[in-house]
Amino acid sequence: MRIYGLFSESSFVLTVFEFLKSVYWRTIGFDINISMLILGLIGGIGSGKSTVAEMFCQLGAEQIDADRIGHEVLQRHEVQTIARNRWGDRVFDHNGQLNRKILAQIVFDPSETGCEELRFLNFLVHPLITQKIEDQIRQFSESDCRYLILNAPLLLENHWEQRVNSLIFVDVPRSTRIARTQKRGWTSAELDARENSQQNLQEKRRTANWIIDNSGNLDETLDQVKKIWQNLETWNR
Ligand code: ADP
Repeated sequence: MRIYGLFSESSFVLTVFEFLKSVYWRTIGFDINISMLILGLIGGIGSGKSTVAEMFCQLGAEQIDADRIGHEVLQRHEVQTIARNRWGDRVFDHNGQLNRKILAQIVFDPSETGCEELRFLNFLVHPLITQKIEDQIRQFSESDCRYLILNAPLLLENHWEQRVNSLIFVDVPRSTRIARTQKRGWTSAELDARENSQQNLQEKRRTANWIIDNSGNLDETLDQVKKIWQNLETWNR
């Protein structure tokens, strides 16, 4: 049974396991911080993953933002060279910057060509993004960080769930997500185009250890984040 904002059965088992593991490593004298828990944030586009990530950070967590890493990777010279060879000058603006909006139109086109171009883009950038995420996880694990949020929209699609201790699904009805992403200048069709290339939301929801209902106001969401935090603190002392 899943309970909004409360400790689900599987997350309880996972956290106990992580706790025992950290005791074991401490006992044999491993001197890096292995009690760091990595929490993966999943959910639909515009569900509030970044908002929830920020709330965890206010409580003391650190964050890896896979979207930001993705944007950085697209700035790399070698990536831009390959992008220009594939899609031509049309994906660059007059300042020579890669235009992500145009690129998105190409790769999220609901045609077979769009799928092929998205596969190519993923093939190009995902190994680099994964490498960067691994580097950051290592750096945080060598610091005194105890909770690391992995905010990665394509976490499950890229099998990064293997790198996290617990998964949190941010739940919001589609109509609310459409309203909230309109602030980004997206239409519901653009939201659909992006979301159709992602794993089904119900499957993602089923995979999660925790579910945060972010359909209410920010205070209500913060309360749920604090409840999860308190539960984590109980086991990760
Ligand atoms: P995601 O990272 O999942 O794409 P964001 O965290 O960027 O989603 O949230 C999408 C938009 O919705 C942002 O403009 C954010 O400020 C807003 N938002 C998120 N949660 C709430 C909430 N509980 N109430 C009102 N607006 C919210």
